[in-house]
Amino acid sequence: MLSRLFRLHGLLVASHPWEVIVGTVAVTMCLMSMNAFATNDQICAWNRQCPKAQEKILSGDVIILTVTRCVAIVYIYIQFKNLRRLGSKYILGIAGLFTIFSSFVFSSVVVHFLGKELTGLNEALPFFLLLIDLSKACTLAKFALSSNSQEEVRENIAQGMAILGPTFTLDAVVECLVIGVGTVSGVRQLEIMCSFGCMSVLANYFAFMTFFPACVSLVLELSRESREGRPIWQLSHFARVLEEEEGNKPNPVTQKVKMIMSLGLALVHAHSRLVTESQTHNMSGSDVVLPAPNMDVDLEQVITLSLALLLAAKYVFFEQAETESSLSIKSPVATPSCSLTNRRGDERCQRESAPPKALMVVPMNKSEGELPDPSHGHQTDELQSHQRPFKPLFIISTFFSRGARCLTNVEVMALVECRGILGYRLEAVMESPERGVAIRREILSSKLPAASALENLPYRHYDYSQVIGTNCENVIGYVPVPVGVAGPLLLDGKEFHVPMATTEGCLVASTNRGCRAVTLSGGVSSRVLADGMTRGPVVQMPSACRAAEVKGWLESPEGFSAVKQAFDHTSRFARLDRLQVSLAGRNLYIRFQSQTGDAMGMNMLSKGTEQALDRLQERYPDMRLLAVSGNYCTDKKPAAVNWIHGRGKSAVCEAVIPARVVQEVLKSSTAALVELNISKNLVGSAMAGSIGGFNAHAANIVTAIYIACGQDPAQTVGSSNCITLMECVGTDGEDLCVSCTMPSLELGTVGGGTGLPAQHACLQMLGVHGSSDQCPGENSRTLARIVCATVLAGELSLMAALAAGHLVKSHMTHNRYNTHLHL
Ligand code: NAP
Repeated sequence: MLSRLFRLHGLLVASHPWEVIVGTVAVTMCLMSMNAFATNDQICAWNRQCPKAQEKILSGDVIILTVTRCVAIVYIYIQFKNLRRLGSKYILGIAGLFTIFSSFVFSSVVVHFLGKELTGLNEALPFFLLLIDLSKACTLAKFALSSNSQEEVRENIAQGMAILGPTFTLDAVVECLVIGVGTVSGVRQLEIMCSFGCMSVLANYFAFMTFFPACVSLVLELSRESREGRPIWQLSHFARVLEEEEGNKPNPVTQKVKMIMSLGLALVHAHSRLVTESQTHNMSGSDVVLPAPNMDVDLEQVITLSLALLLAAKYVFFEQAETESSLSIKSPVATPSCSLTNRRGDERCQRESAPPKALMVVPMNKSEGELPDPSHGHQTDELQSHQRPFKPLFIISTFFSRGARCLTNVEVMALVECRGILGYRLEAVMESPERGVAIRREILSSKLPAASALENLPYRHYDYSQVIGTNCENVIGYVPVPVGVAGPLLLDGKEFHVPMATTEGCLVASTNRGCRAVTLSGGVSSRVLADGMTRGPVVQMPSACRAAEVKGWLESPEGFSAVKQAFDHTSRFARLDRLQVSLAGRNLYIRFQSQTGDAMGMNMLSKGTEQALDRLQERYPDMRLLAVSGNYCTDKKPAAVNWIHGRGKSAVCEAVIPARVVQEVLKSSTAALVELNISKNLVGSAMAGSIGGFNAHAANIVTAIYIACGQDPAQTVGSSNCITLMECVGTDGEDLCVSCTMPSLELGTVGGGTGLPAQHACLQMLGVHGSSDQCPGENSRTLARIVCATVLAGELSLMAALAAGHLVKSHMTHNRYNTHLHL
């Protein structure tokens, strides 16, 4: 209710600034000329007890006065210094205006009360200065400054009034009552000063409620016109933000305390008035006796004047350069200093080192529109087509109130440089992730050896929202990889068209030939042999014997079921199937193996393993967990454990290729292929000491499918484990039986990169996207069979090319810049 009243008042004042200003000045002038109405030419205390006649101001009073004046001057100096840090000439100007007008009103009131005895102002001034609180005026100014249009200025001033008005009114009441206590003290000088204090508070309040908002509204209107109608600063929702901030939100507890205090003080004043009422009329004829000029006063004047001059000189001459530089980062000759306030404006982010490189490379007259393609909102485009001076306060406040869409790229870059925005959070805080990526590229470009380096790295038209927080950080674009298709591949009676993302010429063509050979031969048969992702933490026991004890417990039915219970409840799909425990001295390696549904399962395994280890720790408090991954998993590194015990999906595929197809499609013979397979894939790999590499190029096919289908490409290390076998079969031994066995296919159809649009599309091509409705895990198992079968097709084709001596020739034709031949 109260807020609404103040809002209406604010709206009225802001809508009619001329009328209010003229009206206020007129009323003030009237006050000055209304001395005739003054009941007397003296100033009385709050309790109407007027000063005693002939009372002189003692020298002790003069000292108090001097100190008060000095404190007041320092106080005002500090207030202005703080304001200056905000970096806005508007706020500074408006606050100055407010101070001057308030003092004008105050003088008028004092003159009104004192009549011709204007020397009273001399005593009153320090009080007046001490009671001025520019922060409230600034806050109201900020509300106004957060507007795009004059209508918004009015609206925001009204909003500011609604928020600040009640608090300010209550503050004024409390201040008056508190200071008013001094007027009943009986100490002559204190009474006078307190009376002035009360007037000062009232004058302040009067100016704040009328003249000040009207001036703000008028100043902003004029300023807008001077900029040819262009909006000054786009901070229209700053009001809302300020409203939400603690500092501006009236604290209900404080408000309550103030109310209670006011009531109490009102009672004190009422009481003192009653007690002294009888004395007041006796005093009515007395005049205020103001201090006669003497040597003490002269000294006091010298002190205060010197202090004022000293501080003024410091403010004007010694702080000028620093402020100038902080307000004009964009100037090509600016001192390298960047000064920004943070969200609340109470902390500062200061850079004393070089200015942001990105800022230096943008000349003053270069429009933001010339920056490479920030694709963001219309409003920002419009803003960016104009040059505007660099204003740290507004940048930070705009960012937190209206969001980054109202900032130019250069301004955002300045925020990043000052760590107002963390670089890695750019996509998250921009109005669109794409703009965040664009700005990161801008920042990066200036640091690269060639500024044009990123020109050919695309970044537009990509749904980064799916990437943020899941797939990639510090994104600067994406690398388009050509996707080819191999197929149809007849697998277990069903045809598949297999997407392969690669830059290696011949690979898709060769695999495609293999697919044709197996499809013409009746297709591939496949089975999934095992399904279990692994995680192998390392824990340490105090001794090897104690470690052996733990191993025994884990391998017991009781131990396994305790650990399994802890593991299984972490996921709907992960179910602990096996624990493989090995010892190395007092180190214990525990390989947790679990089904993971349609997910590749590394995160699921990590989560489950952590819980299981907690359970183990409960039983063995002397156990020390060294790492949740002790390389016994083994993830993304060649390891015999995966080859021998399997990891992820273990699959096997087999096809029988009739002699005719071997001859016509593969341009080879069964005998030649079988012989080559033994010599190359079996003996050759054995000679090389290979583990799991008994194949021609399984990694080629695995990697191409993994990239296309959003798998973790690093897992091609283990996933490419494969043994390819070839035998002569059939009645006359002319047909070829080929098989590929792959024990550690680490893949999934949910999680990781499988949800990204392009990768999801590739999984859709195979009909294995997402979670399987019928049987969770079926999609990923099908994908494993497809990968294995495609590997088989690839093996056939490459082996045939090698046997026929076609490999080098075909690579020279289709892939002449790629010399990585698979011999
Ligand atoms: P994930 O996305 O972390 O987990 C799969 C999520 O999908 C789980 O929340 C699961 O539910 C849910 N889900 C829904 N339907 C499902 C279904 N049919 N089958 C299985 N889960 C289903 O994926 P992740 O495979 O465990 O982890 C893959 C990520 O791990 C990749 O980004 C990879 O790069 C990364 N990675 C991590 C490590 C590591 O050490 N942590 C190592 C290598 C790779 P629940 O919550 O009920 O389980």
